[in-house]
Amino acid sequence: MNDSQNSSTSLALDSETRASLWKLVAATIETYLRTVDELPVSPTLDVTRVRSFAESFTFEQSFAPEEAFRLIAAELIQSQVHTPHPQYFGLFNPAPTAMSIAADALVATLNPQLAAWSHSPLAAEMERHLVISIADKFGLPRGQVDGVLTSGGAEANQTALLTALAQRWPEVTLCGLRGLKEEPVFYVSAEGHHSFLKAARAAGLGASSLREIEVTDDLCIDLDSLRAAIHRDHANGHAPFLLVATAGTTGAGAIDPLPNLASLAREHGLWFHVDAAWGGAAALVPELHSVLDGIELADSITFDAHKWLSVSMGAGMFLTRHPDILSRCFATQTAYMPKESEGMQVADPFAHSLQWSRRFIGLKLFLSLAVAGWDGYAAAIRHQTEMGELLRNRLIKDKWKIVNRTPLPLVCFTDGETEWDTNTCQRIANAVVASGQAWISTIQLGKQKQPALRACITNYQTKPHHIDALLDVLNHVRRPKR
Ligand SMILES: *Cc1c(COP(=O)(O)O)cnc(C)c1O
Repeated sequence: MNDSQNSSTSLALDSETRASLWKLVAATIETYLRTVDELPVSPTLDVTRVRSFAESFTFEQSFAPEEAFRLIAAELIQSQVHTPHPQYFGLFNPAPTAMSIAADALVATLNPQLAAWSHSPLAAEMERHLVISIADKFGLPRGQVDGVLTSGGAEANQTALLTALAQRWPEVTLCGLRGLKEEPVFYVSAEGHHSFLKAARAAGLGASSLREIEVTDDLCIDLDSLRAAIHRDHANGHAPFLLVATAGTTGAGAIDPLPNLASLAREHGLWFHVDAAWGGAAALVPELHSVLDGIELADSITFDAHKWLSVSMGAGMFLTRHPDILSRCFATQTAYMPKESEGMQVADPFAHSLQWSRRFIGLKLFLSLAVAGWDGYAAAIRHQTEMGELLRNRLIKDKWKIVNRTPLPLVCFTDGETEWDTNTCQRIANAVVASGQAWISTIQLGKQKQPALRACITNYQTKPHHIDALLDVLNHVRRPKR
């Protein structure tokens, strides 16, 4: 249609067209939020359909703006697992807060450049304030914390690995690992997150530098095995430098014994990192805070706002008690970066993190906190924890067996009467997902790789009747009534 338009009008659009486009966008958002609980939780996976829809856009002809938006939004809504659905019992993917949706739109509009402090001073200071406020909730020492907003937990964990290396061997920032006489090794529980494996590869350490320590029956890191591994590494001339504790494992919500790990790390001179990507949210709830006891001793912490703080993806955080370590890792001198802030007591984000140009990650958390407050968040997290407890009780009542222990709302379970193998668990999970009524997954836990079903309360809007709906479909697919 618009061959006659020049390139600037087809990119910027005229004011009138934009105004009606924004109305359509707002209406689409609101309709989705209002009706998502009426949709099937997940689509059927149909490669041909989604691929041919994507490929039907050859970009040779152009669509009218509203037509393109309407067409694609409708198709997207039909082709995704609805993580904002209250019967999505999944992998920490939240229903985004309303304020984070608004924030993302504003960030896209202003498009602040968070590389240089002087380009977006308020945005940079809002992120600094978030870093300090969240670090305070974890009990890191006031006045000396530093940190950076990240794309997510994986980037934060990679940052932890790099800072731990640079702290132990300052020369690696210049000479890399080549300069080291000893082989660096580090420790994570076998239930820890696999982003550490990727981080080890990216750092040039290789996957074999990661020691996966076996877990106890409670799926927490086994302290005796950990001590033995550290001694073995010392005896073999390797150089342990980092101990990772997980506070809320992805599989089962297990929380490693943080105080014990902190003292073990101190004893052996290891950097103590706590991966609290999801479980860290417990720090916002006074009566749950104690499950994280020991986290205040961490050298660094990973925390994802895009998990239990329910902001849209991606919003992670790396926090540390070492105020100079990020600059030592990431500072560079460049001729081309802006210099207006030189001499001010401020940090340029690009000299402070793995990312360079980056979006204003923090606004969605800042605005959500500004509206909900700490109390609003505590109420939401408390509610989800209660829904987890309700789910456990309902499962037990209907003769399912709970196989994990955690104060967090993540329930791993299996049939209470017959032993199920991996295939049976998968078949049941598939049937639940295929029903469109709920989304759950499967997991294999611990040394025995015990197969189980996994359901996590990830949505602050999940209510008792949604739990009932999950039980109905679970009970039905277990023993279909004729
Ligand atoms: C989700 C998660 C990660 C990875 O975080 P992303 O935000 O997906 O990059 C790391 N550790 C734990 C414990 C997690 O739950």
